[in-house]
Amino acid sequence: MNEQHNAFQQFLGQIKKTREFIHIEENIFVQLQEPKKIMEVSIPVKMDNGTIKVFKGFRAQFNGARGPFKGGIRFHPQVTHDEVKALAAWMTFKTAVVNIPLGGSKGGVIVDPKELSNRELEELSRGYIRAIHQIIGPNQDVPAPDVNTDPRIMGWMMDEYEKIAGQHAPGVITGKALSIGGSQARSYATAQGGAYVLDEAVKKMGLSKGCSVAVQGFGNAGAHMAKILYKMGYKIVAVSDSRGTAVNCTGMDPEEVEKHKEKTGSVANYAGAEKIIGAHCFEQDVDILIPAALENSITKDNVRIIKAKLIIELANGPVTAEADEILEKNGVLVVPDILANAGGVTVSYFEQAQNAQSYYWPEKEVLNKLEGVMRKSFDEIWDLKEKHHTDMRTAAYILSIGRVAQAMRDRGWV
Ligand code: NAD
Repeated sequence: MNEQHNAFQQFLGQIKKTREFIHIEENIFVQLQEPKKIMEVSIPVKMDNGTIKVFKGFRAQFNGARGPFKGGIRFHPQVTHDEVKALAAWMTFKTAVVNIPLGGSKGGVIVDPKELSNRELEELSRGYIRAIHQIIGPNQDVPAPDVNTDPRIMGWMMDEYEKIAGQHAPGVITGKALSIGGSQARSYATAQGGAYVLDEAVKKMGLSKGCSVAVQGFGNAGAHMAKILYKMGYKIVAVSDSRGTAVNCTGMDPEEVEKHKEKTGSVANYAGAEKIIGAHCFEQDVDILIPAALENSITKDNVRIIKAKLIIELANGPVTAEADEILEKNGVLVVPDILANAGGVTVSYFEQAQNAQSYYWPEKEVLNKLEGVMRKSFDEIWDLKEKHHTDMRTAAYILSIGRVAQAMRDRGWV
């Protein structure tokens, strides 16, 4: 695999760059190069036709100096050992960026869930938890949803863990349904957090509130983001998914696009879009571009078609290192993933806190707390960016690596 497209190599490049700005002892630096633990498991599932199919899954625990490991579970055919490692590393620095007392981890199963029946999907979800149950728990490692996993899957997983533990343990997993210990606002927290930082970035750049936006990836994170921004008065000019793009330069109502997607399975061929065959989100003449699909979407090969002045990374790792440099040279402000999509893990942390207290907060309280965390984190990173004359990504790593390194020093890991 080309090195620039290897998410873990990209992460190592990011921490190396951060060392040019802050002192990190060699003894700490070497411990940030590898996860503390990575578990590889086989999950046998009896398929509807009676045959057994064995799926491969991973759980990577990167660093727990600041608290229990925390990170989502991805079901995707392209999940790899290295991808899970990189995502676990990013989680470590994401929880540190927003200063919540958690470490970083990530899980994944190599599977296309669209090819499974409901029963097979439930078997796989429960089997994955049986395979990793020894290393997860409310004070050990707490999974959550990620690409292709949702509250229903989190419910099955929590139930399986509780059966093994022989007790209620809602804090073992976040992103659950409200009826079983989920938090208000968790379903759209990633997007809501992204909208708060977008609002801060728009103010810094002097853009107008009604400016135009394109969202690549009309899934959980991206569709909520489009709907929230539309309500805030932004013009949603383009949205895309893995099957196509809907574009209308006069703007679209994402609720209507969502209805179309629910009926047809894709945003492609949305009746309210202009007929532009082969259009791509990235090339649209918009002020703000929001990649909300997968890693390595913006590369050195397609970066030059981007016209947006502001990029909010709602996906993890959507911009390769080489593309990032080109964007920086072109004066595009990139709000990095570890800040832009940290709203999800922040409300997951609120969910853990509510589970631990067995006392649940109203939606308004959750949103007020989230807003405070996101705006404060943006300001802290902006100040570091100005102080060190660097980009926002490096500033976010200066802040977060500094916090993780301090916890490691205070534990005597030097
Ligand atoms: P999802 O599966 O709900 O949505 C992903 C969307 O991207 C789908 O609509 C899919 O069709 C689309 N897509 C895939 N390939 C594409 C392509 N080449 N072009 C355009 N669209 C494409 O997943 P999600 O939970 O919304 O996660 C999306 C990203 O956000 C991931 O990087 C994930 O790690 C990150 N993220 C999600 C959360 C969360 O709470 N869901 C939290 C933090 C970060």
